[in-house]
Amino acid sequence: MFTLPSGVSFFERGWLSSNNVLIQDDEQAILVDTGYWTHADQTAALVAATLKERPLTSIMNTHLHSDHCGGNAHLQGLYPALTTYIPPGHASFVDQWDVNVLTYEPTGQHCPRFTKSGVLRGGESFTVAGSTWRIHAAPGHDPHSIIIFNESDGILISADALWENGFGVVFPEIEGFAAFEEVKLTLAAIEQLKPRVVLPGHGSAFDDVDGALERARSRLAQFESAPDKHANYAAKVLLKFKLLELQKIKLVDYLGWGQSAQYLHLLHTTYSQGISFEAWFLDLCKALEKSGACLINDEYINNRN
Ligand SMILES: [Zn+2]
Repeated sequence: MFTLPSGVSFFERGWLSSNNVLIQDDEQAILVDTGYWTHADQTAALVAATLKERPLTSIMNTHLHSDHCGGNAHLQGLYPALTTYIPPGHASFVDQWDVNVLTYEPTGQHCPRFTKSGVLRGGESFTVAGSTWRIHAAPGHDPHSIIIFNESDGILISADALWENGFGVVFPEIEGFAAFEEVKLTLAAIEQLKPRVVLPGHGSAFDDVDGALERARSRLAQFESAPDKHANYAAKVLLKFKLLELQKIKLVDYLGWGQSAQYLHLLHTTYSQGISFEAWFLDLCKALEKSGACLINDEYINNRN
């Protein structure tokens, strides 16, 4: 088993919130990603329990999906001197708070408004406790995502570009932009870094990086040969995410939420035009139930872990 250097803490969260990494020395305490907004109190408690009386000095977001920056606003309220750094691609949309481009509207998710102090560009680095952490662009799952690599200790914060078993939904593909090739290039870039330990955006930390890359590549090959499989996976991820948030909801209200999520309409019209949106949505619910991800009874749908 691997150990992390002192000053690096990994908070593994449930799947609704992204994991968080706290990197600190005597002067700084930087939190990479802040989870989903409904868990903001939990995120703040994890940070406070580790830092004790010391303040959090910075937030860095690998990308701006709601499950990675949903705690930003809450933490900004708790620590007035906090600075917040985001990938450059969405910077102006954060300033304008464009919930469409930031995907909160089309995913049917929510993220409390926050402000940014600066951006994290590929190639730039920062130093904590004498260790260099370098930013690398990692498009694919999200065109603007970055990953952060600690060159001294071989620790990679991989966001949703690489998990122990797979990687995040390739969001540009939902919008009709080819991005599987970017996923492939990002996996190659990760391999080149030769990380010793990977701290992913979701799931456990791991050190069998070769195994994870192999699994990710085989999954990518499946998606490339059958994009409808990816579309089906993406739709189920969006549904399950909402269920994780709501836990229990009337099926009719759940469908109402689905009707409001633009990405679900895109997936439906692109891949499943033969059936109505309602029938397609209910088929997805049944598929989730079959896999043990939810339970449908009477007029309710319940999350199952
Ligand atoms: Zn993401």
